[in-house]
Amino acid sequence: MAQKPRECRAEVTAIHWPRPEVIEVDLQMVEPPELDFDAGQWISVPFDSKVVRAWTILSTPARKRSITLSVDVTPGGIGSQWLRALKVGDPVSFKGPTGGFVFNRADPRRAVFAALTAIFAKVGVANVNSDFATFIRTIVILGCLAAFLFATDQYQSPGSVSTRTYVFLVLSGLATGASWVYYFRALKVGDAARVAPIDKLSVVLVAIFAAAFLGERPSPAGWLGISLIAAGAVLVASGL
Ligand SMILES: Cc1cc2nc3c(=O)[nH]c(=O)nc-3n(C[C@H](O)[C@H](O)[C@H](O)COP(=O)(O)OP(=O)(O)OC[C@H]3O[C@@H](n4cnc5c(N)ncnc54)[C@H](O)[C@@H]3O)c2cc1C
Repeated sequence: MAQKPRECRAEVTAIHWPRPEVIEVDLQMVEPPELDFDAGQWISVPFDSKVVRAWTILSTPARKRSITLSVDVTPGGIGSQWLRALKVGDPVSFKGPTGGFVFNRADPRRAVFAALTAIFAKVGVANVNSDFATFIRTIVILGCLAAFLFATDQYQSPGSVSTRTYVFLVLSGLATGASWVYYFRALKVGDAARVAPIDKLSVVLVAIFAAAFLGERPSPAGWLGISLIAAGAVLVASGL
């Protein structure tokens, strides 16, 4: 849950120009030391009593001690000129986080679709080889995503994606493929209600890997919830 907007102080720790007209500024939080915000929220920087400029927080809400802004600078803009003049070490005052049009982490639709995935797959895999069933399902997803990307004008040239991004997306794709193959093989022989919870043990592994490699720090309540998910998954899957 994001905190209410408040007066904040931060310090510039890095400035990048990914493109000639785009500036990215990293701000290390000073007061409060951590900014609790949701994806989609912004901060506003005051220039006088009537002039403020708002900028969306680009960085992940999992990283609370520093935030990144990305701004399409305009030659004569007040905010743009101020951003251009910033140097590493400069203090910055702003108000935030603001905005209610945010990514809802608890959106129940994901759980509903995930549940339907297991139920439909259990029926679908009954009379076909499970690996071939995974193949058919993957073609459906490929077609749907391609249609969605073109319909919403989100398709972008493959050349605009960096090599690093490709490497990690390919690795993620391989891991997803392996996970689906095992999932369908298990569904072929087991009860959907006992196979699906084992899949959810990934929640625990994601939390551990995210803490180890991405620097994410779940709260004690978060770790308790993750432990309960693990215990619940084992309990359901073992049929005790
Ligand atoms: C909620 C919210 C979030 C925002 N988040 C971002 C963000 O993450 N990144 C971001 O870049 N901006 C964002 N903006 C826009 C931002 O607040 C400023 O309007 C923008 O940075 C320009 O401010 P400025 O003071 O430099 O220019 P201004 O003084 O506002 O404008 C100077 C001149 O440039 C023109 N102009 C302004 N913006 C553009 C533009 N993009 N392209 C061409 N001409 C323009 C104006 O019409 C004016 O003639 C956001 C705005 C809101 C309300």
